[in-house]
Amino acid sequence: MKKCIVWLRNDLRLQDNLALNAAASLGYEIIPIYILEEGNQASNIGEASQWWLHHALVDLSQQIKQAGGKLVLLKQSKQGDLLEQLENLIEQYQAEAVYWNRRYEPESIKIDTLVKEKLKLSGIEVTSFVGNILNEPQVIKNKSGKPFQVFTPFWKSTKVHPVQAPKTEKLIFFGEIQNTLNIDSLGLLPSFRWDAKFHLYWEPTRDGAEKKLTETHSEIAKDYLETRDIPSLSGTSMLAPWLHYGQLSVREIYAKLSDLGEEVHIGYLRQLYWRDFAHHLMYHFPHSLKDCLRKEYEFFPWNYDENLAVKWQKGETGYPIIDAGMRQLWETGWMHNRVRMIVASFLVKHLLQDWRTGQAWFDHTLLDADLANNAMGWQWSAGCGADAAPYFRVFNPVLQGEKFDPDGDYVKKYLPELSKLPKKYIHKPWELNEIELKMYGVELGVDYPEPIVELRAGRDQALAAFKKFKSQTY
Ligand code: FAD
Repeated sequence: MKKCIVWLRNDLRLQDNLALNAAASLGYEIIPIYILEEGNQASNIGEASQWWLHHALVDLSQQIKQAGGKLVLLKQSKQGDLLEQLENLIEQYQAEAVYWNRRYEPESIKIDTLVKEKLKLSGIEVTSFVGNILNEPQVIKNKSGKPFQVFTPFWKSTKVHPVQAPKTEKLIFFGEIQNTLNIDSLGLLPSFRWDAKFHLYWEPTRDGAEKKLTETHSEIAKDYLETRDIPSLSGTSMLAPWLHYGQLSVREIYAKLSDLGEEVHIGYLRQLYWRDFAHHLMYHFPHSLKDCLRKEYEFFPWNYDENLAVKWQKGETGYPIIDAGMRQLWETGWMHNRVRMIVASFLVKHLLQDWRTGQAWFDHTLLDADLANNAMGWQWSAGCGADAAPYFRVFNPVLQGEKFDPDGDYVKKYLPELSKLPKKYIHKPWELNEIELKMYGVELGVDYPEPIVELRAGRDQALAAFKKFKSQTY
């Protein structure tokens, strides 16, 4: 039988995989491969995400084995040898075609375009398919043919673009792969084993993804609009890491939840379009992964202070909702979206740290670290991105805490040292006097930090920086 190499990347699944489906329907025996690309940030984000990738690959290779094949693992060790390794594989197995699903990160697009050109020159059939998004960025444009930079009109415009129904073909794998790298040799697990606890919270497999999707369908999606902002509840799907590595396709999620009615469309399914929006922004404005989308913000007068940034990372700011969020992140590899917004605002506004400091920490520690979503989230918070919250809108962490965690359940879960505080003070322990604090087992500065910045002063400092920036750039 003729053979086709299917290069898997952020689509680590056998179900609803367009490249695998196409190879199967054309009668190819499939050689599935994964290449760990040195230097391509999209293939290799941060340590938490690499932990996920390791286990996703273990799971995928078991699924492929059960289906009679073998996942070929390759590691690009130096610039340029990715193509060489692919060519060797094509020659070794006399493959006639190479298929993949498209990626949208600028670095990946460069690599894929080059590989496509070179392989085609040597007579190999190379075909790519729609990647793991609902609509491709080339398709969604505004009336002037330009990309959208505001979410609501973007979302409205997608209404005329149907989402393809998921489909899974019967796959036939080539069974005689001789040698491949061992997953451990990819070196994806951190040397300092801070990841051990992730297994308590996550099942980074296809089975794990299916269970979460079922739970989302039966318990989460219907009440999403009411519960999504309450961090102490399981009100969001937590599907993001499976979605990032494509262990579940976004089309599968869309199809499974679509029948739940209009509320789910304007609630849960709308979020999937935010994810698309982020990917479209990355495609059309590739600089926005590293630089401010609104370029004038490059002149913003940040106050670089490593000490403040480290206190924020460790959850030692003295603001309970911030510290609980940062500790949830460290403990579980995930943070609730509402809290992501609060901690991001605090870092860029009250502490006046460059949004890229927060972006880098999230890239390193989030299991769902995603170049497009993370850059958009941070730029939104800093006021320099698309559809961004204006810089002068400063989240007050005490009021946000009181609104979204009124009983302090979330704070108490991640800051057990504050568990005895009454709810009136759970978001502002400094308002209690020393004797009262002692009654609740807390000594500020010993058991729990004093606030690292006074709220009013932090806000004033942020607004003054914004005023200075505006006067210089407008
Ligand atoms: P749900 O609420 O269940 O939403 C379903 C899916 O929709 C998510 O899994 C995600 O794929 C998508 N989605 C939801 N909200 C957003 C959003 N605001 N932007 C883009 N997609 C969204 N998301 C990431 O996947 N990776 C990141 O690295 C990331 N970094 C962020 C950084 C900041 C500062 C902020 C404010 C947000 C960030 N987000 C990121 C977006 C959002 O917080 C997460 O997608 C969400 O919390 C994941 O949890 P969930 O799967 O339960 O989401």
